[in-house]
Amino acid sequence: MSELVIPAPPPPVVPVAGGEFFFPVRRVFCVGRNYADHAREMGHDPQREPPFFFTKPADALVIAGADTPYPPATADLHHEIELVVAIGKEATGVAAAQALDCVWGYAAGIDLTRRDLQAEAKRLARPWDMAKAFDCSAPIGELVPAARIGHPSSGRVALTVNGTLRQDGDLAEMIWPVPDAIAFLSALVTLMPGDLVFTGTPAGVAAIVRGDRLEGSIAGVGTVTTTIV
Ligand code: MN
Repeated sequence: MSELVIPAPPPPVVPVAGGEFFFPVRRVFCVGRNYADHAREMGHDPQREPPFFFTKPADALVIAGADTPYPPATADLHHEIELVVAIGKEATGVAAAQALDCVWGYAAGIDLTRRDLQAEAKRLARPWDMAKAFDCSAPIGELVPAARIGHPSSGRVALTVNGTLRQDGDLAEMIWPVPDAIAFLSALVTLMPGDLVFTGTPAGVAAIVRGDRLEGSIAGVGTVTTTIV
């Protein structure tokens, strides 16, 4: 191996529930506006839009209950509870009917969003990166293998802040269910083992502040918890 001029960063790894195993993360993709009620609360018509995607850096993950620092450059940090899909096999141009073959497992995650920067980016037709892809913008809970739980297509998706229910939806409400989202995404990029896909959030997104305790859950999958510090 050739000499590195700076130390190589370690790959982010997500623990697998119930054991000593870890899932190494390659890339993080996210689906935008994938629940009709959330699309409406953001001012869009959910019937007209094919899925669209954005990304976060793999090292933006906040792993398994760690604290999340309140990010700079925002006064409107929002929570978005989401089902996260972990890709275990290469997939390119897959049909929805075969799309689940590349899925290794699932987790609950939170797509943290600097909503004020996102609104500005939308207004100016600029990229969303600084609204979505900032440091520590992706808390995630333990992964569970599909071999253990199957492929959930329904089940409660909920998030509480300091014990108060803020988001309460169901996986069955996705505009583009997981197989369709993977099919669309795999037509744009070659999905690779280690990739994660955040699959969008139901309604109820709202601002959080330092000291808030976030507890997300997805029925049959798991939980994600973090405190904003
Ligand atoms: Mn989201």
